[in-house]
Amino acid sequence: MDVLITGINGQDGSYLAELLLGLGHNVHGIVRRNSQSENQTSRIEHIRHKLHLYYGDLTDFASIITALKKSNAQMVFNLAAQSHVKISFEQPVYTMQATGVGFLNLAEAVRIINPAIKIFQASSSEMFGNSADGDGFQRELTPFAPVSPYGIAKLMAHQTAINYRDSYGMFVTNGIFFNHESPRRGTNFLTNKVCKTAVEISQGKTDALVLGNINTRRDWGHSKDYVKAMWALLQLDKPTDAICATGHTHAVGDVVDHVFGKLKLNREKYLRTDKRFERPTEIFSLCGDSSKLRSLTGWKPEISFEAMLDEMVDYWLKELK
Ligand code: NAP
Ligand code: GDP
Repeated sequence: MDVLITGINGQDGSYLAELLLGLGHNVHGIVRRNSQSENQTSRIEHIRHKLHLYYGDLTDFASIITALKKSNAQMVFNLAAQSHVKISFEQPVYTMQATGVGFLNLAEAVRIINPAIKIFQASSSEMFGNSADGDGFQRELTPFAPVSPYGIAKLMAHQTAINYRDSYGMFVTNGIFFNHESPRRGTNFLTNKVCKTAVEISQGKTDALVLGNINTRRDWGHSKDYVKAMWALLQLDKPTDAICATGHTHAVGDVVDHVFGKLKLNREKYLRTDKRFERPTEIFSLCGDSSKLRSLTGWKPEISFEAMLDEMVDYWLKELK
C-alpha cells in the first residue's frame, strides 16, 4: 500500500515510517524546506533511501494536492503541526494556520482528489484543558476546554475531522493522544530537556537545570508504542475518535527525580525554576482512559515511564560523550 505521512521528519513521523517500512508498505512523506538541508531529514536520514519525499507545507494547499497525486496514497497520517504548546503563545496565528487550518487543507484536498483515502488525525489531550471526569481521568466524552492556542487549533482540526466524516462519509479518525516521548522528542519539551541537561550536568558541561512549573502532571507514554496505535486505528472497519494514553500520571518533579536519581545528581544543588519557562495558562493534570482504543484494537503500552526515561538518558550519555 502507498501511505503518506505529513510531519514524517517529526518524532512520531520517523517511528511511524520505520513501522510501515517494516510492514512492507511504500512510505511517502512531506518535508519542509529548511535553510540547512540536513534538518529536513534529521530524524529519517537512516531510512531516507527507502522513502519517497516531497517538499510541502500544510499551509500550502497546492503542495498537499501535489503530494497526494504523486504518492497515490490510500492512507494519510496527519502528524504535521506546530506542536509546542509554549511556542503556540508566541506564534498563535501560525499555530492556528499550521495545526488547525492545515488539517482543513488536507481534508479538503483528500475530498477533491479521492474521498476514499483514509485519514488519521493526530488530535491531542491539550484539547481538554483543565476538564476531567470526577475521577480525574479524561475520556472521549469529557468536555473539551482548551487553554492554549495549540489546544484550540487541535480542537478545530478535531471537529473538522468529525464534520468531514459526517458530511461526506469520509474515513477520518481522530487519535486523541496524550504526551509521548522518546530520544527523538524535541529538546525543548520537558522530558528530553530534563534528560539532555541532566547528562550535561553529570559531564560538567552545565551547572543547572532551569524549569518552569514543576508541579503539573502529565500522562507520559513512548512514541514507539503510540505509532502502533495510529496504525491499528486505521485498520478498523469504521472511523472513530479514541484516546491513546497509559492511564498513569506523573508530576514534572517525578521526571526530574527519576533522571537525577539515575545520574546520582542532587536536586537541591542543580534544579532551579524560572517564570520564563511558565505558560500564561497551564493544564494542571492529564490522565487518559484508553479503554476504548484497547478494546477496539487490543493495543496496550509496552514501554514504562521509567524505561522510557532510562532510554532517553542512555541516548544522551552516548550522544554527548
Ligand atoms: P514534532 O516532532 O514536532 O513533529 C511535527 C512535524 O510536523 C515535524 O516534522 C515538522 O517539520 C512538521 N511540520 C510543522 N509545521 C508544518 C507545516 N506547516 N507543514 C508541514 N509540516 C510541518 O511532533 P510529534 O511529537 O512527532 O507529534 C506528531 C503529531 O502528534 C503532531 O501533530 C502533534 O501535535 C501531535 N501530538 C503529539 C503529542 C506528543 O506528546 N508528542 C501528543 C498529542 C498530539 P520539521 O521537521 O521541518 O520541523
Ligand atoms: P505539553 O504538555 O505538550 O505542554 O508538553 P511539554 O513537555 O512542553 O510540557 C509538559 C509540562 O512540563 C507542562 O506542564 C509544562 O509547563 C511543564 N514544564 C515545566 N518546565 C518546563 C520547561 O522548561 N519546558 C517545557 N517544555 N515544559 C516545562
